[in-house]
Amino acid sequence: MLKNKKNYAPESFKLSGDGNKEINKEIGFKDLNLSKPIMQAVADAGYENPTPVQAKAIPAVLAGSDLLAGAQTGTGKTAAFTLPILHLLAEKHAAASRSGKPRCLVLTPTRELAAQVEESVKTYGKYLPLKSTAVFGGMSIVPQIKALRRNVDILVATPGRLLDHVGQKTVDLSGVEIFVLDEADRMLDMGFIVDIKKIIALLPKQRQNLLFSATFSEKIKTLSASVLHNPVFVEGAKRNAASELVDQSVHLVSQRLKSHLLSHLIKHHKWKQVLIFTRTKNGANRLADKLTADGISASAIHGNKSQPARTKALAQFKDGSVTALVATDVASRGIDIDRLPHVINFELPNMAEDYVHRIGRTGRAGSSGKAISLVDKEELRYLKEIERFIKREIPKVLFDSFVPPANMPVAEPHNSLPQRQGGRKHYGERTSAGSRNYSPRYGHAKKQNRSKDINTKSKVR
Ligand code: AMP
Repeated sequence: MLKNKKNYAPESFKLSGDGNKEINKEIGFKDLNLSKPIMQAVADAGYENPTPVQAKAIPAVLAGSDLLAGAQTGTGKTAAFTLPILHLLAEKHAAASRSGKPRCLVLTPTRELAAQVEESVKTYGKYLPLKSTAVFGGMSIVPQIKALRRNVDILVATPGRLLDHVGQKTVDLSGVEIFVLDEADRMLDMGFIVDIKKIIALLPKQRQNLLFSATFSEKIKTLSASVLHNPVFVEGAKRNAASELVDQSVHLVSQRLKSHLLSHLIKHHKWKQVLIFTRTKNGANRLADKLTADGISASAIHGNKSQPARTKALAQFKDGSVTALVATDVASRGIDIDRLPHVINFELPNMAEDYVHRIGRTGRAGSSGKAISLVDKEELRYLKEIERFIKREIPKVLFDSFVPPANMPVAEPHNSLPQRQGGRKHYGERTSAGSRNYSPRYGHAKKQNRSKDINTKSKVR
């Protein structure tokens, strides 16, 4: 049980769409008492001021407290725990016995997040004599074993692969001084609770614990109560969730025309970096193939792809050699690209919260981004839930006479939609009752007036 209830997350703690507080202007990094090498790395990264979660979490961690942080990707949470951990470990470095055992363990739900957290550790710790490594599945275990032999101070890991190492006795967790559970809610969603418990049982009783979670379900509360002792609670307002920084819109378009519209948007606007979300792995593959066929360099990233293929796709997307990265929600966790300009929801997620996670990939670090959702009639109920969740209406654009270019064949709809009576109706066409008709268009391209111009859209609120 928690000893100090008043520090506990409030019952109502939830992602709120309007929590944009931007970067904390009151407290500067210099007020946080971080050591010089860390301050230098922070300056090199171009950060001027700590984000709210950093301003609150860093002093608490430096003071040695356990921490319960309500923060999601985009809040600056990684630096919020990495910076003070580096400070603490470096301070005691000389005195610490060079046992070769990891002194800090960070658990993450996904391989991508593990890789990115470790990258942050390296970035912020570049002027310190501390060593780090990441271990996660989908990669050969041999190089990881070698890396672990080289006396790692900070180990970032996914639970499954870490337990493989424990099983092979290639890691010893008895020297862990600081334990971090990153994106704890995702870990529970992904069924890692048993693994987490096994890992905790291997840690020394005396240690500092930090738990980060975007949401607080009953399960998270139970986990926090069993892991944390007298924690300080901090809440990180997301710098961009559903905020002014992200220019959100919905394009109402039938499912079968979505890929044509998407290709058109990317080409017409000459977008260079577009992250696209689909609901299924097959859908991601199909869409990447379709975009490639339309002359747009595209890759898909999802759980069925090998880790090297995922890493390569991400690297190519980051360096600009791939324009469109098509991802499923799980695979996209932890994808962290500064100033990602465009996020497309090819299909809306059925969890409103995932929408916030998805659009949180754009508009980061003070730059503005665009999030466009392609929404079919069948998805309008999800849209309603999302709007209720983020407490705002998303502007809608109707593609009432969007017609694919002549050289784009229109596929037959694969979800056979009922034929309307009384002839064809187009998206947004007014019915006799005067209301908008959002039913999909059933005509085939060859029967329609072709136009390359999609500026015939009209806005509704
Ligand atoms: P995270 O929430 O850890 O996923 O971080 C989101 C992004 O914010 C990363 O790209 C960081 O590089 C960036 N970031 C973290 N802290 C700051 C800061 N104080 N000022 C500006 N950008 C930051």
